[in-house]
Amino acid sequence: MAEIDRMLEANEQWAEQFPGSKPVRPARKVAVVACMDSRIPLFGVLGLDIGDAHVIRNAGGVITEDVIRSLTLSQHALGTREIVLVHHTECGLQTTDDVSFADAVERATGRRPPWAARTFTDVDDDVRESMRLVRESPYLLSHEVRGTVYDVTTGRLREIKDPAAPHHSQARGGPLQQGQDPAR
Ligand SMILES: [Zn+2]
Repeated sequence: MAEIDRMLEANEQWAEQFPGSKPVRPARKVAVVACMDSRIPLFGVLGLDIGDAHVIRNAGGVITEDVIRSLTLSQHALGTREIVLVHHTECGLQTTDDVSFADAVERATGRRPPWAARTFTDVDDDVRESMRLVRESPYLLSHEVRGTVYDVTTGRLREIKDPAAPHHSQARGGPLQQGQDPAR
């Protein structure tokens, strides 16, 4: 447990230049769902400041029941409306598959996980699948979601166009303009 000591030390410097408290409601009314990958410093990548956005991360940035729980709280209790997805190139979830991973866990521990690892091969498809799952959630106030892939070798974000999106927004009364709040 050496890392925690380094972190506590680093925090001393952080606290000395800390700008002070901000409101609990994210100033830019946006929630970001992203992979936990160590090479994606989200605040820098997206130009976010303290207090700007909710950040929800897991392996793959996939939309799980617990991500929906966080998004629902983010929207109903804390006022966010936009959802931005950040998946990325060279994801660890592309290095295995659900069955092989469950096999490996079972071999190592004697227990087979009841959940799927949610591995994938095509990152663009994975982003579209995540956008679909967000749109299909019945608990959200706003289904305004856009998805991106972050290139870990260049630092650039690439937006994934979703053919399902225009159809969906038509069904909800016409395409949304950027920045428009569908809940108002
Ligand atoms: Zn990843």
